[in-house]
Amino acid sequence: MRRPSLTFVMLGLVLLTPPLYAETPDAILKKPLPPVFDPSAIDHRVKPCADFYHYACGAWLKANPIPPDQSSWWRYSALDEHITAVLASILEEAAAGQGIKTEARRKIGDYYASCMDEAAIEERGLQPFALEFERIAAINNKAELAAAIAHLQRIGASPLFFFSSTPDYTDADMMIATADQDGFALPDRDYYLTPEFNGERTEYRAHVTRMFRLLGDRADRAAVEADAVMRIETALARAAMSLVDQREPNSVHHKMSFAAFTALAPSFDWKKYLAEVGAPSFDSLDVADPGFFRGLEPLMKSVTIEEWKAYLRWNLIHGLVSMAPKALVEEDFAFFGRLLDGQASIAERWKSCVDATDDQLGDALGEAYVEREFDETTKQRVLAIMHAIERTMRADIESIDWMSQQTKDRALDKLANVAEKVGHPDAWLDYSDVTIVRGDALGNTERAADFGLKRDLAKIGKPTDRSEWAASAPTNNSYYDDQAVDITFPAGGLQLPNFDVTADDAIDYGNLGALIGHELTHGFDDEGRHYDARGNLKDWWTARDAKAFEARAEGFVREYSRFVAVKDPSNPAKDVLVDGELTLGENTADNGGMQLAYAAFLATPGAKEGKDGLGYSPAQRFFLSYAQGWCENETTESAKEDAKTEPHAPGKYRVNGVVMNMLPFREAFACAVGTPMAPAKINRVW
Ligand SMILES: [Zn+2]
Repeated sequence: MRRPSLTFVMLGLVLLTPPLYAETPDAILKKPLPPVFDPSAIDHRVKPCADFYHYACGAWLKANPIPPDQSSWWRYSALDEHITAVLASILEEAAAGQGIKTEARRKIGDYYASCMDEAAIEERGLQPFALEFERIAAINNKAELAAAIAHLQRIGASPLFFFSSTPDYTDADMMIATADQDGFALPDRDYYLTPEFNGERTEYRAHVTRMFRLLGDRADRAAVEADAVMRIETALARAAMSLVDQREPNSVHHKMSFAAFTALAPSFDWKKYLAEVGAPSFDSLDVADPGFFRGLEPLMKSVTIEEWKAYLRWNLIHGLVSMAPKALVEEDFAFFGRLLDGQASIAERWKSCVDATDDQLGDALGEAYVEREFDETTKQRVLAIMHAIERTMRADIESIDWMSQQTKDRALDKLANVAEKVGHPDAWLDYSDVTIVRGDALGNTERAADFGLKRDLAKIGKPTDRSEWAASAPTNNSYYDDQAVDITFPAGGLQLPNFDVTADDAIDYGNLGALIGHELTHGFDDEGRHYDARGNLKDWWTARDAKAFEARAEGFVREYSRFVAVKDPSNPAKDVLVDGELTLGENTADNGGMQLAYAAFLATPGAKEGKDGLGYSPAQRFFLSYAQGWCENETTESAKEDAKTEPHAPGKYRVNGVVMNMLPFREAFACAVGTPMAPAKINRVW
């Protein structure tokens, strides 16, 4: 893995023969979704006590190679594809003018149709971008630079830094302005700074150069522009915090006066920026990383206006490339998709247009999705499991022997305050202020981005709206929010193979129950534990309890840091290991979630049933349902990127790393102590 020259030679060969891969929404919708627990996914040649992941997933792994248009393929990816196909059929109908009940429905149809009209995009070429390139070309001084950066952020690009609104960490009931690091396109700061990514860096510079060439710049000019981009992005990366350091909440929240903030980088024209970005006035804001903004000052002094213009041109085309002509879309894919992630071929246009619509007009699309796909029975069953898991967590906290009553009381208080969001928001976002014009793909995306930012910044200084959702209803995922103190399970994820409303308790608690437990545990992991019952960043732990927590969490860091994320077949010394610190929160949540799900499962009638027709006991089916949720094939390139940037451990360790810590697992599969899945030392936080 760390032999970039060889890797890139091989990728060069792939570039010459892009495989064709096409599948219509109808063809996808005809395929049945996989069950939560699939006995045929098991590889019986592997012993469950030797490697439970390969026992539970082995046959599936062999039968399910990564499709060419993906860089990883999980069992639940079939649901991702299914949802995308459902959304495509909704959007095709809306585009054809069928079933238009609302203005919002018309808008998603027009947005999608414009995105899909590649012939029109091709015919207009770079003309839709012309006005924006002219604006950049006309920049003469630093005040105009600040205005241009604000404008680009409004239309969907992300130059220099990130500016938005967030709940105030000293009073989460109120929203304040926030500023954070951003402005570099590679996946992490290390890609710019460390020798292990030398190869990626060289290829990135070549990609940026080719993008400038595609914009019509001469070869010598494109090379100079790419140098400017590399110089600026590298400086931003150097000023930025690492992903691991960002996991400490006290390191990423700094409330300061506007005057103190602007003093970090006085050469940037902040007043001009704020006027152009359209932020209401404010006295103080939450600066995630003051060091990053301090790092902007030398850049403002040393980078020439011409270099800034090159950086902004790059930022514009990189940020809005999805609505650009095909040559640019394909060049973007060649670097970010094929080279960085090892994806063989670009996804079909309909998939990326569905994603773009979901991303920009998510509630309008979500409303149509829920109407067609979600019902109350599902919601009630999910809520019932949720309540059972919450009751279990309450009992678990009450019984913990390493925590004082004082800290327990506050933990229980927080648990009681966690809001449950299931299916979809009660009210849908109103898109009447977004203008969508059929045939104007780029303009639509710019106006939708502007609407999103405007809406976001309008919250500054207002009370926090705790009913808001941070994911669209069709999303196949779930989350816990530290500041909102809620767990959210959108409609998209509440179906096969994650959840089966008709399945028995072993299956539903093993998969969905563990996911619910996972999200709840996030409120009490190494990050979440720093926030109180209202979402304020406030230490509610006694010093002794905090110490006991950290000692226990350290056990997970040690355990997961030994796992191999990317194997180097020729040299084990070059294996890439899992980053136990980067993944600590997710590993804590995986372990805690399964402890809770199992305890809650024991209280169900399903736990007392006999073996099923194939001879699996309820406990065995519980663990198999969990494990099969994480069956995963992934390209080596994507695994390497994930090892650096992904807070979740690879699927294999989301399974094995957890069951190794569970005594009920050993009992269920009769694993003797000392077998790989039953080590002598057990790690546990919750
Ligand atoms: Zn998580």
